[in-house]
Amino acid sequence: MKSPAFSYYEAKDLADAINVKKTDDDAVILAGGQSLLPTLNMRLSNPSVLIDISEIKELREIKIEDGFLCIGAMSSHSKVMNNKDVNEVLPILCKILSQVAHPAIRNKGTHGGSVAYGDPAAELPAFAVLVDAQIVLSGFSGERIVSAKEFYKGLFETSINSDEILTSVKYPINQNNKQLFFDEITRRHGDYAMAGLVGSIVQKNKINEEINFVFFGTGDKPNEAPKTCEYLLNNEYNYTDIKDILKTDIEFASDISSSSDMKAHLSAILVGRMMKELN
Ligand SMILES: Cc1cc2nc3c(=O)[nH]c(=O)nc-3n(C[C@H](O)[C@H](O)[C@H](O)COP(=O)(O)OP(=O)(O)OC[C@H]3O[C@@H](n4cnc5c(N)ncnc54)[C@H](O)[C@@H]3O)c2cc1C
Repeated sequence: MKSPAFSYYEAKDLADAINVKKTDDDAVILAGGQSLLPTLNMRLSNPSVLIDISEIKELREIKIEDGFLCIGAMSSHSKVMNNKDVNEVLPILCKILSQVAHPAIRNKGTHGGSVAYGDPAAELPAFAVLVDAQIVLSGFSGERIVSAKEFYKGLFETSINSDEILTSVKYPINQNNKQLFFDEITRRHGDYAMAGLVGSIVQKNKINEEINFVFFGTGDKPNEAPKTCEYLLNNEYNYTDIKDILKTDIEFASDISSSSDMKAHLSAILVGRMMKELN
């Protein structure tokens, strides 16, 4: 299918992009285009103008600052995966990104695009919620920071205001001896996950003191599972119990890949794999 007609604007800098966005409610940010262009071709949206932010240099920076790994919105998945600092301070992010789509898509798709789009099946939003990353937004009235836990509101719904652009994502580096885990189940390598899990565990003398899980591909946004985590602090893993408790934590939603019950099943399997990896 062909996209509807739209104008194209290449932003000179961040202020320029924000100005155009502020004056036109139907203007849309174009980052890597890997999600936006397919939705245009399927006529799922009808923007007046695409504001291309790919030439804004400051959005491509990756740096370590004040205890955070700061990833500029326009850093491609490939660039993040191959960055020396990322590999040193948050290697799990490289492992996660290696499972996002395929090399051609990773060369164009951006960190900010994935976090801003908020696809519930995407890996990065779930990871941002797990480590409670800071989402940096710039708009007409200045900059503000939203915690990732507050950022995702519902299906493709975030707390970005209409004049705002996501400029960077800041991940806390010091995870207080947390072990970080990532796993997902896909039909084929590079597909969106049927269900996926990022988790963190703090142990003292081999005793689990803190467990956090965030699932993706399971509901309308990244799904935390507090009751399941609480249960596992006091009980051994047991597939049947975990599947039942997960259903009280998460409103599993079916999609083209699997039913809601299948997603609960896969999520329970993922928890089992993670607990096994730990012991
Ligand atoms: C075949 C295929 C398979 C894929 N598989 C996966 C996968 O397994 N896992 C996964 O996570 N992703 C997957 N993706 C998506 C891919 O990771 C994209 O890179 C990601 O969705 C971000 O896209 P983008 O940078 O190209 O943003 P765009 O497509 O340009 O934009 C996406 C949306 O976010 C908005 N946006 C973008 N950047 C900003 C910003 N800085 N501020 C405010 N709004 C912004 C845009 O306006 C648009 O609404 C896949 C894509 C394809 C085509």
